Amino acid sequence: MSDLLGLNAVAAREALDKKAISAVELTTAYLGAAEATAGLNNYVALTADHALAMAAESDKRIAAGAAGLLEGLPIGVKDLFCTKGISSTACSNILKGFVPPYESTVTANLWAAGGVMLGKLNCDEFAMGSGNENSAFGPAVNPWQGKDKVDLVPGGSSGGSASAVAARSALLATGTDTGGSIRQPAAFCGVVGLKPTYGRCSRWGIVAFASSLDQAGPFTRTVADNALIMTAMASHDAKDSTSTQTPLQDLIGAVGDGVKGMKIGVPKEYGMDGMDSEVVTLWEQGQAWLRDAGAELIDVSLPHTKYALPAYYIIAPAEASSNLARYDGVRYGMRVDAETLDGMYEATRAAGFGEEVQRRIMIGTYVLSAGYYDAYYLKAQKVRRLIKGDFDEAFQTVDALLTPATPSAAFPVGRKIDDPVTNFLNDVFTVPANLAGLPGIAVPGGVTSDGLPLGLQVLGRPFDEASLYRVAGVLEQAAGFKMTPARMAGGAA
Ligand code: GLN
Repeated sequence: MSDLLGLNAVAAREALDKKAISAVELTTAYLGAAEATAGLNNYVALTADHALAMAAESDKRIAAGAAGLLEGLPIGVKDLFCTKGISSTACSNILKGFVPPYESTVTANLWAAGGVMLGKLNCDEFAMGSGNENSAFGPAVNPWQGKDKVDLVPGGSSGGSASAVAARSALLATGTDTGGSIRQPAAFCGVVGLKPTYGRCSRWGIVAFASSLDQAGPFTRTVADNALIMTAMASHDAKDSTSTQTPLQDLIGAVGDGVKGMKIGVPKEYGMDGMDSEVVTLWEQGQAWLRDAGAELIDVSLPHTKYALPAYYIIAPAEASSNLARYDGVRYGMRVDAETLDGMYEATRAAGFGEEVQRRIMIGTYVLSAGYYDAYYLKAQKVRRLIKGDFDEAFQTVDALLTPATPSAAFPVGRKIDDPVTNFLNDVFTVPANLAGLPGIAVPGGVTSDGLPLGLQVLGRPFDEASLYRVAGVLEQAAGFKMTPARMAGGAA
């Protein structure tokens, strides 16, 4: 069993095609792994029968020589994606009992490519959070541990996805990233996570948080696996008016292309006070790796960086308050009855939404209200434009940017939950890319002295995911990151 779990996605595809292993065997191993690591609470639903039926179909297609790009590969799905006939809750009490009659475009693309769905993964409620601690199913846990063996957060909001890929209870996983929710958990769990360009993946069928920022993307063990699943996930979709028609580049081919002749920018504003010295050291190491591989490193400035976080925490709640108006006890999931209609709305929303979601709705409603719209929301939109302008300017000279992924390694469960502002600071390096709509990838670069993973982030021009994979491929090779977490299926779990 542990042999099967040791294969990355590219290797598993080869073994499946050679009939050295079967999709049913591989899926059975992953279902077992998910059960063995249930203590990590990274799955909120394991759909074993469905998975085995899909795997059996995969084996038939492989036998018929009709394998798809992801044929037979076991995939976990963040519970923010609607999956037809399978409960989809966004990890909120308000959606408990909601079974969508449709499939999100991204997951439909994965199944059309032969992927096998293992189940639904834990996340922060409505994707609001940085530690997966705001879930109605309780926190997901990071499989990595420091020397004191304390439970750490896997990051958020796609914490279950990162935790499952790191713990080898999913070979691949989907996530969404509105302000960093793919890149930050990927960095905290020592896996690879890509947020594609806004518009690259369809948002159709994904529970909306902040529609102008939300983007789906993959979690994987390696950069090559990431390019593989991304190739299947992306598509133009008439059902999402912001979905792009720009053709997808050859992402799989880009991974091994190297960085010779590339210009990589190092934004000086990302060297912030209060950042862990080990994060700074890794960032410098990353620059040296790229220089050694033939890239030219160039200092650049993104002067409006410090306004990104405050602008994000106005724009994202504003859009969330509007998107979440639909949960009224009538159309989806839970209802708490009351004597009047307004009373029913109030009782349902008070009981159904968790504390962080209620906080975002209040902030959002406030910044959109007549008296404050200009002072907050409009101002934040103007700042957003300036941040985009900084990147446009930088990308006139450089092909990609190298930054740390997070200001620190994973923190203990419970440490920051009562302090929302400190929690928000986690997103300082990831949020600007969402505001500007740019693609970003987090790659594991090394570990802290306490043995916890740290990630590097690469940002690129819109619709140039190929350059990200080129840079990430070099970083991955140079880092030679081979360590595995303490609580891993088939390992010390
Ligand atoms: N941590 C950020 C927030 O809480 C980002 C979340 C996300 O990307 N979904 O809003």
